[in-house]
Amino acid sequence: MERLILLNPGPVVVSDRVRNALMGPDLCHREPEFSQILGRVRQKLLRVFDGDESYTTVVFTGSGTACLDAALCAAVESRALVLSNGAYGERLEQILAAYGLDATVLRSEYGEPLRYESAAKLLEDDRGIDTVAMVHHETSTGMLNPLREMSDICARYGRTFVVDAISSLGAEDLSVRRDGIDYCVSTANKCIHGLPGVSFVCAKRSRLEEAKQRKRTFYLDLYEQFYREEYRGETPFTPAVQIFYALEAALDELLEGGIGSRIERYAALAGMIRDGIAALGLHLMLPREHYSNSITSILLPEGISYSSLHDAVKEAGYVVYAGQGPMSERFFRVANMGALTPAHIGGFLEALDGSVRELSAPGW
Ligand SMILES: *Cc1c(COP(=O)(O)O)cnc(C)c1O
Repeated sequence: MERLILLNPGPVVVSDRVRNALMGPDLCHREPEFSQILGRVRQKLLRVFDGDESYTTVVFTGSGTACLDAALCAAVESRALVLSNGAYGERLEQILAAYGLDATVLRSEYGEPLRYESAAKLLEDDRGIDTVAMVHHETSTGMLNPLREMSDICARYGRTFVVDAISSLGAEDLSVRRDGIDYCVSTANKCIHGLPGVSFVCAKRSRLEEAKQRKRTFYLDLYEQFYREEYRGETPFTPAVQIFYALEAALDELLEGGIGSRIERYAALAGMIRDGIAALGLHLMLPREHYSNSITSILLPEGISYSSLHDAVKEAGYVVYAGQGPMSERFFRVANMGALTPAHIGGFLEALDGSVRELSAPGW
């Protein structure tokens, strides 16, 4: 199969160092060698989340959504408040509903800001809501939702704060400590530059202790997973051993280069894409200041369908991603996640230009 440059929001292009880590030894996960890897990975993740000793990290084998299940099942006592402005906000609602957990939802249109003021009012009036959940980077539109507004409100009213940081950890300024997050969920194969198969939660230890009694799921029981990883140095079930090797390589790469410099690289690549889109005469879906560092949602040029554009750009070696949600027919997404360089983005913009010209040529 041809090597394509992935401009979809995960899985991402990874470095040779990460891919080669898969070639590590066959290993039984009940051996001390695996415990050591697990311990190191959890420690390195804690640094990436910027947690102190009041926090811990728990790793699951499963995609990012597995950890959202785990975190919500652990966090919610009786009712949650979800702030939603896109497909991933809706997913938080769907997870709560699947476990029969009560939720109040403050919904904004896709691409509109979250309703923090209404949230504050609700928490003041309604003592029944114990947990607030939101998405940091709403990948369906590319919108970055500020965290501090909500965490200040949660702190004021003493509620548990759950954040989906699946597509922001590594690419955005995020600190569980500073941002007052109780449960923060992310995954290996987006801005961390690992491979798909493992995901993780950074949790406040005091909150995890509260979660001890809540057994709503067997496989995704966050307290049980924490207990086994923390006190036995093992996972309860078979972990994706080789994907842990790759994750450790990815974390080393990230921590060696520094998270600040990764954030700068992402911002520069996203800027290149947005400038390039304007230069081609195409239009962004959101006001530029609302975007994250890693997704650009772009209106489809008049008369060109997503599938024809996708196929033409893929022919040139690049994979873009469809829109999502009520406007999905009208836009497409370009992610600059993964081990990408300015040359990749330059090549993509040329391919996009060529594809748009070809598809809008008379007689096509
Ligand atoms: C990708 C993504 C998810 C889902 O992750 P999976 O790994 O596909 O389960 C959830 N939330 C956000 C914000 C995402 O970008």
